[in-house]
Amino acid sequence: MDATRATALLDELERAVDRRLRHLTADAESLRHDRADATADDEHDPEGSTLSGEWAQVDALARASVAERDEIRAARERVASGTFGVCEVCGRPIADARLEARPTARRCIVCAT
Ligand SMILES: [Zn+2]
Repeated sequence: MDATRATALLDELERAVDRRLRHLTADAESLRHDRADATADDEHDPEGSTLSGEWAQVDALARASVAERDEIRAARERVASGTFGVCEVCGRPIADARLEARPTARRCIVCAT
């Protein structure tokens, strides 16, 4: 896969991740708000535990998105250094179909499984 296509795929993925992170940040804000209200109303409000469950979920998704952004940054470095699309284990090229589906892949399908 050439650097132009790789960069286009990474740009597209990064936009999707940023969009997800913005939504998650907004969700986290409204949850923080709801939780503050719930705590103020009644500390034993059963809704309090539901909110912390949602909070944990939003937090986990946000962490995954941040990790994905790091992966995208690392993939851009591989594009710059000419090692993008080269399996880090066996050194063979990673199939274009795999990179199209997962542009941050570091390993070929054989080494990944
Ligand atoms: Zn491999």
